[in-house]
Amino acid sequence: MLIGILGDVHGNLEALDAVIASARRANVDHWVQVGDLVGYGADPGPCIDRIRELGATVCLGNHDAAVIGRISADYFNHFARAAIDWTRRQLRDEHLQFLASLQLTVEHEHYDLVHGSLHMPEQFGYVLSPVEAAESLAKQTRRIAFVGHSHVPALYVQHDLAAPHRLEVVYEGEFARDLGDGVRALLNVGSVGQPRDEDPRAAFALYDPASRRVEVRRVAYDCAQAQAKIRTAGLPAVLADRLSLGV
Ligand code: ZN
Repeated sequence: MLIGILGDVHGNLEALDAVIASARRANVDHWVQVGDLVGYGADPGPCIDRIRELGATVCLGNHDAAVIGRISADYFNHFARAAIDWTRRQLRDEHLQFLASLQLTVEHEHYDLVHGSLHMPEQFGYVLSPVEAAESLAKQTRRIAFVGHSHVPALYVQHDLAAPHRLEVVYEGEFARDLGDGVRALLNVGSVGQPRDEDPRAAFALYDPASRRVEVRRVAYDCAQAQAKIRTAGLPAVLADRLSLGV
């Protein structure tokens, strides 16, 4: 089994299709999406359709939750709120029902899944440091958890359960690591649709539960097309501009 993990697609169909093609070439046969399928990009409905066609395991992101009214859009900045309102008007009932069916966390045989952190998942907090990673790891039931939300890839490895705050940290835009037996890990898979580590290429992750190899890969995609669609849709121009900067 090879698990392909996609995060923070944010309605960017060009990036999503590039990532799916790359993951298929790697022989992914189980798909995961860590939330925020929509918001920011111009193709929220087609992105939901793609993820459903893959049969992916999906959890709820904060933008997804705001679109269906499960949390208030008041917590978002002006540009994000404009995209949330726009997205809500684009989606058909079946899309809204799909988002409404998503859970905050998923416990799968091979992994835990949450958008922000397993520590109070309903708060949509960020894991940006080893301290926050340790809080999430304390709630983790499986040997690996997949998260997103920050749009920046990261890996936190807990080698010794007796020293839960002593974590090996990998902050790299793309990497591969072999996790040994007995270690637990928290993987931020980065963002498909709006990377924020100054590398505009779409990010996704691979995990093989048998070998315990974990990878984050980057894929170039037709960013100009995604930007043109955002501008044509009348969404805030900054949401297009930032894509080619990777911020
Ligand atoms: Zn996001």
